[in-house]
Amino acid sequence: MRDHIQRTPHPPSKDYVTLSYYQFRPIPQKEDLLKIQYFFLTDLRAMDVVGRIYVSAEGINAQISCPKDRVKDFKAYYATHWPIFDKIRFNPAMSEGKAFKKLHVRIKGQLVADGIDNSTFDIYNEPTYLTPEEWHNELSSQSTPPILIDMRNHYESSIGHFENAIRPDVTTFKENVDAMLDICKGKEDKEIYMYCTGGIRCTRSGALLKSNGFKSIKMLRGGVTAYGRYIQDQRQQQVAEGRDEEEVKSIYKGKNFTFDKRLGEPITEEVLATCHICGTACDTYSNCSNMACNLLMISCPACQQRHQGTCGSGSCVEMVQELSEKQKKIDKNHPGLRGMKARLGIHPFHEHRLRVRPLKVMENRRNKARL
Ligand SMILES: [Zn+2]
Ligand SMILES: [Zn+2]
Repeated sequence: MRDHIQRTPHPPSKDYVTLSYYQFRPIPQKEDLLKIQYFFLTDLRAMDVVGRIYVSAEGINAQISCPKDRVKDFKAYYATHWPIFDKIRFNPAMSEGKAFKKLHVRIKGQLVADGIDNSTFDIYNEPTYLTPEEWHNELSSQSTPPILIDMRNHYESSIGHFENAIRPDVTTFKENVDAMLDICKGKEDKEIYMYCTGGIRCTRSGALLKSNGFKSIKMLRGGVTAYGRYIQDQRQQQVAEGRDEEEVKSIYKGKNFTFDKRLGEPITEEVLATCHICGTACDTYSNCSNMACNLLMISCPACQQRHQGTCGSGSCVEMVQELSEKQKKIDKNHPGLRGMKARLGIHPFHEHRLRVRPLKVMENRRNKARL
């Protein structure tokens, strides 16, 4: 996850669309993975595609931004050249714009890391896919709340989630799979609903449940991203038909956390979270501007300004000031702060699990200060 979170949100340029897509499909030979990596890098760069593509022995998982006028070519490229990825469904993000700066194609061990060996279950025993409309209708018409599991991490579900969802307080997908197994224990005959950002986590964990004798597992096809688009389309349709006084009732509240420089897109106006520094209502994530700290936190505009984009710790403010002084003295052609960070030998302050727990970090600091 660490590499996924970019530093500061940039205003997206409007002429790109962002798409996510994935497919589980065995690619056992390392040399095939290297070939795929090579072709994607050369071909997609030529189309000005940016983003992150992961390939592994179990398939592909990607989030990319593609120039609007190339989307047709991009889709045709997959259809023509990559018959092995014949089940890919391109899942568009809600907002337009370039969500990434560069194209990265990486070879990974697991597409989504839960540490469970693929030989222990049938990854192709997939759950039932509900379209956003089917999902909306089924969940809004139930008289008793169903078993509905949010398969995302705590920092994702805290800024937005479906009504009545069980939201495990977890930091990694692996922990969420353990939580899911606990929640589902003894409920093999019950209907279980699950969702995540784009679907891949549910395709995998749903297959795990089905392989373990669970009868009815239903997941949201295209995840929260697709649901957000469904709600957006409904609203646009209402406006077009002059029925805009009627409210489209989204059963998802708040924001959809995204692993790109936007760090989230709003689905409804509700703000479910608070600034980690001062506690006012806010759901905008950023990383502490001290790169060595890099704490993923929610901070309101006032706190951003007061603490120079840092998490508010004295040492972070100091370090950012010091670096910006040094930066001013450096030749314009220097690669920038990242290079300086390496030269100054700064080591990351927090391991991943603490980096996404700002309140815990702040509490630890207060305790330390008291000693
Ligand atoms: Zn604040
Ligand atoms: Zn910090």
